[in-house]
Amino acid sequence: MLELSNVSVKYGSFAAVKDIDIQVGEGELVVLLGSNGAGKSTTFNAISGLQKPSAGDIIFEGKSITGLSPDKIVQAGIVQCAEDRKLFPQMSVHQNLIMGAYVHRKKRKQVKESISEVYELFPILREKKENAAGSLSGGQQQMLAIGRALMSRPKMMLLDEPSIGLAPLIVEQMFEVIQKINKDGTTVLLAEQNAFAALKIADRGYVFESGSMVVQGSSEELLANDTVRRAYIGA
Ligand code: ATP
Repeated sequence: MLELSNVSVKYGSFAAVKDIDIQVGEGELVVLLGSNGAGKSTTFNAISGLQKPSAGDIIFEGKSITGLSPDKIVQAGIVQCAEDRKLFPQMSVHQNLIMGAYVHRKKRKQVKESISEVYELFPILREKKENAAGSLSGGQQQMLAIGRALMSRPKMMLLDEPSIGLAPLIVEQMFEVIQKINKDGTTVLLAEQNAFAALKIADRGYVFESGSMVVQGSSEELLANDTVRRAYIGA
């Protein structure tokens, strides 16, 4: 479904991502692992059009999306849920969700259906639908960011560190919801530092170090890999 071939991304002369190859099949849940600064967010930004690759090609459903604008990439079916969530803090939960349906703004019935689906997935958001997004807890804001991303009815969702800054119990719920979104038919590419929890729900993973992809394999293989265990699982 998604294929990155020999993709590199530079900030000025600094190569943040070097010659990476990644494939994600339809229906898969794939995780990118790596410490701070390894290049995961940069890779996401290259896929979602926020950062132009300096080399390589990104193919989605058989067509090149390399260098397309972010709105064209959302229209193609890929939505990114960024690490810093990028909510509109003064606007209500409901209004934030409506904003997520911008690409479908003329299909009012569909927008209503999508909102109901998001409220079913996250009942707490229905309870708080009139509250300002900025007044929600960290976990609820993350749910809202994911809910808003779902409003564009993506084929593929890029989730950048959804567990960051959340309490352990909430992290567990977050991973359960991500798994459910995937089982309901959305392909997921996840970036995480929480390697153990991510590999428990993922089909496969790629490990990044200093902008290069150094190990790849099924979740079982990565959970058993000594380098991965030492560096990311603390075992
Ligand atoms: P994190 O979880 O901290 O976001 P990451 O694996 O997602 O880590 P990136 O954010 O992609 O890593 O960063 C990769 C490298 O690129 C880092 O060395 C970072 O300092 C650098 N970098 C990221 N964004 C920029 C930018 N806008 N300008 C210059 N350098 C940047």
